[in-house]
Amino acid sequence: MQTCASATTVAFAGLEARRVEVQVQLTGGTSAIVIVGLGDKAVSESRERVRAAFASIGLAIPAGRLVVNLAPADLPKEGTHYDLPIALAMMAAIGALPHDALDGAVCFGEVGLDGALAAAPGALPAAMAAQGMDHIFICPDACGSEAAWSGADVVAAPSLLALVNHFRGGATLKTPERGELISAGAIPDLRDVKGQEQAKRALEIAAAGAHNILFVGPPGAGKSMLAQRLPGLLPPLESSELLEVSMIHSVAGLLQRGQLTRTRPFRAPHHSASMAALVGGGLRAKPGEISLAHNGVLFLDELPEFSQQALDALRQPLETGQVLIARANHHVVYPARILLAAAMNPCRCGGGPGAGQCKRGPRCAIDYQARLSGPLLDRIDIQLDVPPVTAADLGLPPPVEGTTEAAARVARARAAQGERGVGLNAVLDLEALEKTATPDAPGAALLSKAAETMALSARAYHRTMKVARTIADLEGASVVRRIHIAEALSLRRQWAGADGSLARVS
Ligand SMILES: [Zn+2]
Repeated sequence: MQTCASATTVAFAGLEARRVEVQVQLTGGTSAIVIVGLGDKAVSESRERVRAAFASIGLAIPAGRLVVNLAPADLPKEGTHYDLPIALAMMAAIGALPHDALDGAVCFGEVGLDGALAAAPGALPAAMAAQGMDHIFICPDACGSEAAWSGADVVAAPSLLALVNHFRGGATLKTPERGELISAGAIPDLRDVKGQEQAKRALEIAAAGAHNILFVGPPGAGKSMLAQRLPGLLPPLESSELLEVSMIHSVAGLLQRGQLTRTRPFRAPHHSASMAALVGGGLRAKPGEISLAHNGVLFLDELPEFSQQALDALRQPLETGQVLIARANHHVVYPARILLAAAMNPCRCGGGPGAGQCKRGPRCAIDYQARLSGPLLDRIDIQLDVPPVTAADLGLPPPVEGTTEAAARVARARAAQGERGVGLNAVLDLEALEKTATPDAPGAALLSKAAETMALSARAYHRTMKVARTIADLEGASVVRRIHIAEALSLRRQWAGADGSLARVS
């Protein structure tokens, strides 16, 4: 009888699936199953699931000590997908599978007590790792259509028994088809928004240059309604982006039936969401909302209501496009290149000087707005007051233009940025900014005058240049002119200062 066998699987470090060998050895001694190799609770519980599954399919475990080692031992292993490689390696060790059945295969999946195989998060990156190793990918049926996107040869089985029959040559399993490429349901149209012309224009500019945007206005001004329409203005995901986004959603266990979509993600976590839900991590390393919004839009309504810790945690990903999560003895990195759309009331009670609802005076707005730090606001290129919707607005006929027209302009503006080859306008460094966005003489004159009268900081000055560059791109203009600078300046909010004046300009 074979007493030693191994199976290959993966451990996740962020989105990266690293090779793990599951080595099983049957030795003499008291009957027991021991799993070693830095597994978490789900991994140690694997023992019970596999034992029950073996019993249910009438497979006797011979007397003796079965030691399961997950190598390399210093790599942390989390999740239930180790069940299948452990079960298969044990079966090979006790002679229930042909000795070479697991050669050149990556095994992945959860095993139920009845021997049925269940989906586990991360099938797509795991299958891609298998393809990279030139291995086949053995997984549960429920993961098959997701794994098939990887391009690896996939063997997907409903149960352990079906796999045993497959390996013994009894019944060959069908190769699963890729899941569908679906559209993510109806994206709300900009045409539904009556009035709010400046806010709609600001959304278009935000989409065109990938500028983060903040709407400030009283409840009922339609801030959320506006933000929800941002993904519709963005171009569909490119193939490389699609794969990256899908891998994140796979690791988070959010891909349904292997269906992928080119529609950009839109995530809108509530301000009471925990840090782990927002940024990632938790008991088991998982991407947070900020990574689930990767290559799409993260919408934070009631921005100042988020905890200070959460707001601080936003700064790093806004700067670097990725999020670093501290684990017990290592770090995990997830991509998090997001377009941030945020909204807030002018003050805590929802009113504002303009709306005339706040009875507590300017102090109320000042204290509320002070919850947003300068460094955070520095990363939001467009900050805009959104007035309340008036009865006259609601009586307007539907706008002539909607999402289709605006998205077409956004696509053209993005193409123009692509041709310059220095990235989207929001992420231009100083050198690229000066090279591509220096205005003509009248534009420069207006900008320097504004810098003086509005007391623009250097950062605010550069933000204005970036936004003006995008406005020029939307128009198809190669040079930034006065009119573009003027519009960019109108998309800057004057924040109330501590002395009640409109002094704080970050
Ligand atoms: Zn108030």
